[in-house]
Amino acid sequence: MGEGATDVGSASRAIFDAACAVIPGGVNSATRAVGAPWAFTRAEGARMWDADGREYLDYHAAFGAILLGHCDPRVDEPVRETIGRIDLTGYGVTELEVEYGRLVCESIASVDTSLATNTGTEATLQAVRLARAITGRRYVVKFQGNFHGWHDAVARNVISPPERAYKLDPLSAGILPDAFAATLIAEYNDVGSVQALFDEYPEQIAAVIFEAIPHNVGALLPTREFSDGLRELTRREGALLICDEVITGFRHGLGGYQAVLELEPDLTTFGKGIANGYPVAGIGGRRELMERFSSAGGDVVVAGTFNGHAVGMAAAVATMTHLRDHGDDFYPRVHALGARMREGLQRIADELGIAATAAGFGSVFCLYFMDGPIRGYRDLMRNDDAAYVAFHRRMTERGILMLPLSLKRNHVSDAHTEEDVDRTLEVAEEVLRELA
Ligand code: PLP
Repeated sequence: MGEGATDVGSASRAIFDAACAVIPGGVNSATRAVGAPWAFTRAEGARMWDADGREYLDYHAAFGAILLGHCDPRVDEPVRETIGRIDLTGYGVTELEVEYGRLVCESIASVDTSLATNTGTEATLQAVRLARAITGRRYVVKFQGNFHGWHDAVARNVISPPERAYKLDPLSAGILPDAFAATLIAEYNDVGSVQALFDEYPEQIAAVIFEAIPHNVGALLPTREFSDGLRELTRREGALLICDEVITGFRHGLGGYQAVLELEPDLTTFGKGIANGYPVAGIGGRRELMERFSSAGGDVVVAGTFNGHAVGMAAAVATMTHLRDHGDDFYPRVHALGARMREGLQRIADELGIAATAAGFGSVFCLYFMDGPIRGYRDLMRNDDAAYVAFHRRMTERGILMLPLSLKRNHVSDAHTEEDVDRTLEVAEEVLRELA
C-alpha cells in the first residue's frame, strides 16, 4: 500500500520552493513537511485554505494547539485589545501574568504556583532540571513512545522502529552520549518496568516523566493501576513524578487528564491548547518545589526574554476563562464529537473487515491499523504504517486534514460540528473501501 507524497497545487509548490531557498527544507519544524510541500494562506474555525484556494477540514489542529477553533474571536479580540495597550516590558510583572497564574493554579489541583514559558520543550526542560536539583540525583525515567520536546534529556525513544525500541534511539544528532545515558527507558502501563529501574539504580533516579495520555503515539490510555503505581513508587523512592500534560492539559478537562486519573503529580507541564494556538506553555507544582527556581531566590535558573509576553498571556487568559465559564458546554460537546468520530471509524472498519482500532479520549481520535487490545508501545509495533500513510493521503486529497504521521492523533475543536464529523466519516468510508 506504499504511496508517495500528496499532490499540491502550483501556488503551494511555488511558495514552498521559495521557502526552501531561505529555510532549511522549507519549514520551521521538521514534521510540517511530512506528506506534502504545502503552503497555507488562511485558517478559520475548523477549516484551513492552502495557497491554491483548496479548503481543508482540519483535525491536525496545529498538533492540538487549536482547541476552540482557528482565529477564534473569543481569543483574538482580547489579544488585539492587549496589543494596543502593552507588549513586552522586560521588567517586573504585568496584571495579565497574575491573571494567567491565578487561572492555571485554580484549574490544576496539584499546582500551587506556575511559571510561564513559550514552549512545552522549555517546560519539560525546567521540570527535569528542577527534579535533578531537588533530589541531587542523575537519572530520569521516560517511557518508550512518549515525547516531551526536543531537549537533550528527553530527545530519545519516541516512535522507534522495532530494532531500536527500548535501546538507544536518538531523535537528533549532536547530543552528547552522556545526556542520553542519564535517561532511562521504561514501558508505558507497566509499573514493574519502572520498579526494575529503581532496583537497578537505587537512590539515583531524580524523576519519572510521563505523558498523561501518550498522544504522540495515538492514545495509549493509562490504567489506574499504572498511574497510581507510579505515584506510590516515586513517593517511596524519593523521586519526583512529572506529569506532561502539554497535549492533554485543558484539552481533556480544565484540570487536565490528572483530574480524570485523580492523580497528584509533583510537577505538571502544559502548553498547546492553553492559549488556542498562541505560543504559551508552562510548568507548575507544589509551592515548596517551585521555590527552588531563581525567580523565588532559589538556585535553578529561570530566564527567558519572551516569558509572559502580553500577547500569549492575553490569549491564555481568554482561553482558560472561556473553558472555566463555558466548560460545562464545551467539554461534553467536543467529547461527544470525538466519540462520534471514534465509533464511526470503528464501525466502518469492522463492516469492511479491516484490521483497525479507533482509539482516543475526549476530543482526540486516532486510527490504528491493527487489532486491539493496545496497552503499551510493544503492541504498537504491530501497526501497519503503510496503511495509515495511504489512508492519510487519500483523506487529504478529499479535503480532510489529519496528522501525516502514522500512530499520531487528531483533534476535534469547538469549531467542528456533527455535520463535519459525519462528512469526515463518509469520506473515511470511501477511502477505507478503496483500501480494503
Ligand atoms: N510534551 C508533549 C507531550 C508534546 O506533545 C510536546 C510537543 O508536541 C512537547 C512536550 C513539546 O512542546 P513544544 O512543541 O511546545 O516545545
